[in-house]
Order: sequence, then structure tokens, then C-alpha cells
Amino acid sequence: MREEIVIAGAGIGGLTTALSLHQAGLPVRVFEAVPKIEPLGVGINVLPHAVREFEELGLLPRLRALGVACRELMYCTKRGERIWSEPRGLAAGYRWPQISIHRGALQMLLLEAARERIGADRIQLGHRVRHAATEGDGVRVSLESPDGDPLPDATGRLAVAADGIHSAVRQQFYPDEGPPCWNGAIMWRGVAEAPAYLDGHTMVMAGHPQRKFVCYPISHAGTSPGRHRINFVAERRVEATTLDEREDWTRRADPGDFLPLFEDWRFDWLDVPEVIRAAEAVWVYPMVDRDPLPRWTHGRVTLLGDAAHPMYPIGSNGASQAVLDARTLTGCLLAYPDDPEAGLRRYEEARRPVTAKIVTANRGMGPELPMQLVEERAPDGFERLEDVIRADELESIADQYKQLAGFSVAELNARTSLGAPDGWRNDGA
Ligand SMILES: Cc1cc2nc3c(=O)[nH]c(=O)nc-3n(C[C@H](O)[C@H](O)[C@H](O)COP(=O)(O)OP(=O)(O)OC[C@H]3O[C@@H](n4cnc5c(N)ncnc54)[C@H](O)[C@@H]3O)c2cc1C
Repeated sequence: MREEIVIAGAGIGGLTTALSLHQAGLPVRVFEAVPKIEPLGVGINVLPHAVREFEELGLLPRLRALGVACRELMYCTKRGERIWSEPRGLAAGYRWPQISIHRGALQMLLLEAARERIGADRIQLGHRVRHAATEGDGVRVSLESPDGDPLPDATGRLAVAADGIHSAVRQQFYPDEGPPCWNGAIMWRGVAEAPAYLDGHTMVMAGHPQRKFVCYPISHAGTSPGRHRINFVAERRVEATTLDEREDWTRRADPGDFLPLFEDWRFDWLDVPEVIRAAEAVWVYPMVDRDPLPRWTHGRVTLLGDAAHPMYPIGSNGASQAVLDARTLTGCLLAYPDDPEAGLRRYEEARRPVTAKIVTANRGMGPELPMQLVEERAPDGFERLEDVIRADELESIADQYKQLAGFSVAELNARTSLGAPDGWRNDGA
């Protein structure tokens, strides 16, 4: 038992960490708070740098079968006029696709793989982590049941807290941090079966930061030909920045709450109100994140994924960065086989600064800045886009963000997988 790495949370980050460490020959045990994992959430994107790591884990065929390869990202105005589009995934020259998928489908895929490979008894549901601390040359993790009854402690070699934006372990390290920061944007999220639009592989961002509609297909398996399952997020900003109640990914909403804001968004190629009306259900979530932390690792306990760096869902980075954390952690622990604390420190050194920069860039609108600029400069439309924004201005915004988020094409195509030990030792050994 002492040899195990204890992981808190069986979300995308925790399960990927478990699969990755297990593949590397490091024993793991996962404790998940909820008694049953349901395929919750709506669509997410797995960017090529994360897809590449899933391929290393032998999961690419399953991922492809469940999702849709995104080929283009298109930014347009609230009237559907194209501002900028760029190829994505294979079409952009990456050796790996970008995959749009239902979050719940991805989580279930990972759970199934973890149960098959690691053993169902090592993924313990209904075990909420309350506290994790270094004890001698290992860790002690205290647990409770969903009703709050104490459960026997777990011990292990290391502990990784992948317990999401309300991480108990993060709170233990930073007791005064308080609730997440909200920027006043409200996101209504849903999945609708609707007619395919454009080439059936395009992610669309329409409008501007005050009122925005994002959609992309997450499955081509519609119930009738020509219909796809389309994920959407309809967003608006309000003046307030203090939440009345704690945000919750599972809060339901009524389409009538936001449909009027988008009623006239009927483009030649997409009928936004029709997509909203076709939603199977709608959930509402505020755009929240947390300030970057000065430290993730305390002795033999570290943070990963949203527990470490919750960020606005801009630039499709939430799940992908958690996957990169998981793989980097694996590479670093392999690089320091006899000194796991040094491995954790190296992991933090590699991941904390870069994820902090993404959190900050997303607060500044990240790659969505052109939508804001075009709205400010031409709120009533335009004849020629080049009179409103220059092509080189557009390109430099997109390139800067890609570089920052670690998905430059040349760099990704050339480097080894993050899960390998090569290159992680900084003492040259
Ligand atoms: C129910 C749900 C729905 C979501 N839907 C979307 C979505 O539609 N779109 C989107 O962009 N992102 C969504 N997210 C967030 C997204 O999954 C993450 O931003 C990203 O994938 C990083 O994953 P993570 O594993 O770090 O965190 P999460 O995916 O949030 O996973 C954290 C896991 O830890 C568990 N947990 C929490 N506290 C404890 C504890 N004390 N002990 C043990 N386990 C604990 C949670 O139950 C959860 O399974 C959702 C998250 C959740 C939990």
C-alpha cells in the first residue's frame, strides 16, 4: 500500500493521471467523492497536444470513435460574417487531430479503461478526500463517505489532488482563498440534435465577449441523416461579479432565459435559435477561475488539473491542460525514480508557470480578442473586413495564444511525449 500513488478525483485529470502512471509501472489508487460516475457535462475539445498523449496511452481509437475531428475554427460576427478562421488538428499540420467530444463520454471512456487496466477495486467511488499530508516517506489521506462519515485513512507514496475547482486539498493549503473569481459572464450550455452546418467539422465562435454563441459538432451519430449532435454555449455578460450561490456544473436552466438574446441570430449557414430550441437540456454556469498559485507541491502532495489551475473555458484548454499535467507528472516521476519529491518539484516547475500564463491570457480574452476588436470598430457591420482589422493583426493574436498554450505545430510534432522521462531531469543525469 505504501508504494501506491493516491489520486483524489476521477475526473478527466485524475483518471488520465491514473492511466498514465499505471502504464509507467507506478501503482495507483483513485478516490472519487461521488458514489456513481454519470456522464455529466456537455462538449469539450481535446487539443492535438493532449490527443497525442491519449494516443501514447492507447486510447486514440476510442476517442476518435466517440468524438468528431475538428478541422476548422471560425470566428464570426453576430450576423454570421466571417472574421477569421484557421485550420485545426490534422488540417493545421499537426500529426494528431483535435477532437470535440461530450465530456461525459470522455470521462466514461477513461473510467472504463482505468477499470480494465488498473482494476475496478482501485477506483473507489463514494470516497471523498478531506485532507492529504506528508507522513515520513509517504502520505496519509483522510477520507469520508458521501454522507460525511469518516472512512479509514489511505496511505501511499505520494498524493495527487485532481479534485477539481473546489479541491479540498487546495483549500487545505490555501484556507483563506475563498470562492472562485467570476468575470460576470453567464454560460448556458446544451447539446442539440440539429442539421449539420458548414463542413460538419467546424467550431464556430460568433458575436463578441458581451454576447457570444459557440458551437461545434460532438457526434455525427444523429437519429436521422444530415443531423448531428451539436454542442453549444450561449453567453452574455452582466455587470455583477459576485455570485449569489456556489457555481455547479449540473445546474439546469430554461432556454427562455437566454433565447430572446439570440432570436435574430439567423445566419445563411446556421440558425442559432433553432439550435437552442432543439437542446435536449440546458445548464447554466458562470465563467469562473482562480488566481494562479505560488506553489502546488507541499512535500509529497501536489495539485493537478482544475485543482491546480482552473481557467475560463476559452481556447479549449481546461481538459487538455489537465491531460498535459498528468503526462508531465508521469515523465517527471520516471525521471527521478529514487527521489519522488524531486519529481514532483520538477513537475510543478514545468507546469505551474505555463498554466498560470494561460489563466491570465484567458482573462484577457485570449484568442477571442479579434471578435471584440471587430465589434468595437464596426458594431453595425462592414463591407470589407480588411477595413476593420488587418490580416497580420489577426494572425499575430492567434499565434501568440498558440505559442503560450504549448500548441505550436512544429514544436509538438518534433518533441517526444511528455510521459517519457527524457528531458525532464534538470541536473543532466
Ligand atoms: C460534473 C462536471 C461537469 C463538467 N462539465 C463541463 C463542461 O460541460 N464543459 C467544460 O468545459 N468543463 C466541464 N467540467 C470541467 C472540466 O471537466 C474540467 O475543467 C477539466 O476537464 C479538468 O478536469 P479535472 O479532472 O481537473 O476536474 P473535474 O473534471 O472537475 O474532476 C474533478 C473530480 O474530482 C471529484 N472530486 C471533487 N472533490 C473531491 C474530493 N474532495 N475527493 C475526491 N474526489 C473529489 C469530482 O467529483 C470530479 O469527478 C465539468 C466538471 C464536472 C465535475
